[in-house]
Amino acid sequence: MCLVNFSKTVEKMNSVLQCMDCAQQYPMTQVLYNCEKCGGLLDVQHDLTGLRKTIDRAFFDRRLGTLQAPYNSGVWRYKELIYPDVDPQHIVSRPEGNTNLYRAPRLAKWAGVENLYLKHEGENPTGSFKDRGMTTGVTQARALGMTRAACASTGNTSASLAAYTAWADMEGVVFFQNKQVAMGKLSQAIAYGATAIQINADFDRNLELVREISLSLGIYILNSVNPFRLEGQKSIMIETIQQLDWQVPDWIVCPGGNLGNSSAFGKALYELCELGLIERMPRLAIIQAEGANPLYRSYANRFAGLEAMSAETIATAIKIGNPVNYAKAVRALRWTDGVVEQVSDQEIMDAKALIDRQGIGCEPASACSLAGLRKLVDQGVVKPHETVVGILTGHLLKDPDATINYHNHTLPGIEARYPNWLHRAEASVAEITQILQSVHSRSNS
Ligand SMILES: *Cc1c(COP(=O)(O)O)cnc(C)c1O
Ligand SMILES: [Zn+2]
Repeated sequence: MCLVNFSKTVEKMNSVLQCMDCAQQYPMTQVLYNCEKCGGLLDVQHDLTGLRKTIDRAFFDRRLGTLQAPYNSGVWRYKELIYPDVDPQHIVSRPEGNTNLYRAPRLAKWAGVENLYLKHEGENPTGSFKDRGMTTGVTQARALGMTRAACASTGNTSASLAAYTAWADMEGVVFFQNKQVAMGKLSQAIAYGATAIQINADFDRNLELVREISLSLGIYILNSVNPFRLEGQKSIMIETIQQLDWQVPDWIVCPGGNLGNSSAFGKALYELCELGLIERMPRLAIIQAEGANPLYRSYANRFAGLEAMSAETIATAIKIGNPVNYAKAVRALRWTDGVVEQVSDQEIMDAKALIDRQGIGCEPASACSLAGLRKLVDQGVVKPHETVVGILTGHLLKDPDATINYHNHTLPGIEARYPNWLHRAEASVAEITQILQSVHSRSNS
């Protein structure tokens, strides 16, 4: 059963931009990030009534495995649900998506459930899910005739924007914060040739700056306030559910920072339900870091309101104190009967170590999914027999310092519970043999 409480389907054939608060509509060709009437966030609203007649599961299944662009992309395979009317010549695709959905029985056992799948968005072209929103965002920039695009970022959006603007032969501009930028991400932005500016401010202030400067200079803004990015990110949900042969899991668990992904998941699931592609809604669990938990606090307060905070966590991708998509994330939680949980940096790094040593690997923020799931099972919110999909948002190589420092026991305030020692030896057969024998006997005891 689709438990959705409102249905504002538009009658027109083509998609429009629509304010989520006052339902004011604007044409897709307008460069706009917030409602001109009330300041609300905008949705790309498709003609769901029309779509219902033309698409079904088999329509998308027939495209699986195709070599034909753009349908070889895990985003554009679902073009009709994402950007139906786009002129194909504008599409900028690497192609992205088509990421693996791993069955992880050992991690399932650790978390306390029977069935756990991990959707690895770190397997995208630049190593994070941001590519799924960037392909649609940069495509829209081209459709609008823009030649420059900018974002403020904790790192992955910048890496992705830099790659996609370079690929499209556009100019990319990225704002980084002054400290705690993961080396993998910074090096990507520089290598791909974007104009990279490190600013003496945190992410939240940088987002204000990029908006002000981009508006005055006519640069296209590709932060997740841009609704076209969220359309691309919907494909994470659609692809996951198609990989499960359209069987809906009980839970989707994902980290929450600026809450673009959570918002996109909610919209995707709402639309899949409205279109009859799924029969019921899964429940969404959004996991925040304790030091960057404005959504969690608001949730604990029955959504009394968002209180911006100064954020601190080792999971730099979610080190965000004033999430721009807050209202859409709350909507996603209402649509899916969702929950919010928080986890400590200690819990994040231990969960990461376990994901890493499965041979899968992820960056710190991604490990919120597993750490949060374990907590929700402990509390009885997630039941052991329920099927869970955890989203891994970014690749292990994004933040090598966090990994090495964990295993070296040099992370302040964190005690590595699952360390893998780096052994050191002289070039001596006896010494090396002794190390190997002691490791072998320990792992067999
Ligand atoms: C961007 C990002 C997040 C946070 O996603 P939001 O949409 O901002 O909530 C989490 N993990 C990684 C690796 C990211 O790059
Ligand atoms: Zn409005």
